[in-house]
Amino acid sequence: MAVHESDLVILGGGSGGYACALRAAQLGLSVTLIEADKVGGTCLHRGCIPTKALLHSAEVADSARTAADFGIKVQMSGVDMAAVLEYKSRVVDRLYTGLQGLVRSHRIDLVSGTGHLVGNKTIEVDGQERYAGRSVVLATGSYARTIPGVVLGPRVVTSDAALELDQVPSRVVVLGGGVIGVEFASVWSSFGSEVTIVEALDRLVPAEDEWVSKQLARAFRKRNITTRTASRVRNVIQSDESVTLELEDDQTLEADLVLVAVGRGPRTTGNGFEDHGIVLDRGFVVTDDRLRTSVDGVYAVGDIVPGLQLAHRGFQHGIFVAEQIAGQQPPVINEEHVPRVTYSHPEVASVGLSEKSATERHGAATAVVYDLAGNGKSQILQTSGGIKVIRAGGKDEDGPIVGVHMVGDRVGELIGEAQMTVAWEALPSDVAPFVHAHPTQNEAFGEAVLALAGTPLHGHN
Ligand code: NAD
Repeated sequence: MAVHESDLVILGGGSGGYACALRAAQLGLSVTLIEADKVGGTCLHRGCIPTKALLHSAEVADSARTAADFGIKVQMSGVDMAAVLEYKSRVVDRLYTGLQGLVRSHRIDLVSGTGHLVGNKTIEVDGQERYAGRSVVLATGSYARTIPGVVLGPRVVTSDAALELDQVPSRVVVLGGGVIGVEFASVWSSFGSEVTIVEALDRLVPAEDEWVSKQLARAFRKRNITTRTASRVRNVIQSDESVTLELEDDQTLEADLVLVAVGRGPRTTGNGFEDHGIVLDRGFVVTDDRLRTSVDGVYAVGDIVPGLQLAHRGFQHGIFVAEQIAGQQPPVINEEHVPRVTYSHPEVASVGLSEKSATERHGAATAVVYDLAGNGKSQILQTSGGIKVIRAGGKDEDGPIVGVHMVGDRVGELIGEAQMTVAWEALPSDVAPFVHAHPTQNEAFGEAVLALAGTPLHGHN
């Protein structure tokens, strides 16, 4: 069997894998990138990009529906799902074409096929060719988990099939009130569906600060999205016409469609990892903080590494590993500085610690919430929510800002300043003098920091 050699062989061309390939090529390494499907992976083809396109169509639908509140006469006559899907595909296709061009122009050897680790830093593709690297990067990504006993079908789907629906379902039940669950609930509600979210834990987006969950629950209630927390499904029965869900509390729900959004699992089985010494923990690849696996010269990046399963973390992992393999000393990635944005209506954006973790970590923490009701731009946009800024230390102490949590339309775009503030361990008094443009939603962050620095201008609670 022919063995092709290069400096670096990467298994998986998603966010982590392709970012690694581009950076390694920029640093002069010869790179082989092995991908079974399309470069761009889940994020570009079945995740971030297509879902955000649907969310944008949903926002347009909401704008059309509420246009009269802003003095604009529009008649909303419905959602043309075929046209929505076409718009979504146009966005994805354009980015995909651009990405393929980038891979070509970096002279990356893109190999199409399914790769298996066969030891000796070598990947075999479709049992035919072998690719050996001086280093190997595993970047196989993740898949949508399902619930044991719940069988997928035309009316019970994961996000993969939900992205291709050519009709708006009348009644949807979303299993899982995490990031995917609330984003799809938001889309369908904007498109006119009756939506119920069933979440096993006691609040929506349970990984976020509790204040965020309360704000989101309140906003969803106003949108008539029903949320059933601390609730689990016992049985899901599909027929040609509908789906019946039996909950553990003996109640039943009827729906036309069920979305299963209960998390994503690492794609690490059946590809030779464990057989060739890669240590896994509950399916995830165990690495040190420099993303080295248990096998010398083999690294792992992205969703297969325990932690936040976010595309931008995968990118950063890929860049980090490429630079390290090229002999540089990139700083270790701090997982707590990775920003998190949920693109529902309203959006959720956060970075750093929740109030609870900040209190546990620092003994005491002080938080201020600035309500968007007092923010001019938010009133112009007619959005509600708030910005919560947390600093280490009790009321009379001074300590760095360790967490920022935001809820409201468009707040995702505000995460940059919050992220730098947390990553640079800025004190409220460091940030307070910065002037924020008026009128912007960004001012609400400035106001919260002013309050934390002891010099509030407008009201806060
Ligand atoms: P998640 O972990 O965010 O949420 C899954 C939710 O399902 C949890 O709240 C969990 O308590 C609940 N759950 C688990 N089993 C359940 C059951 N049997 N019944 C009811 N609820 C149950 O996972 P996700 O929403 O599937 O997203 C997967 C990954 O993709 C996440 O890591 C997420 O961060 C990432 N993602 C990110 C974005 C973004 O950044 N905007 C968008 C989509 C997905």
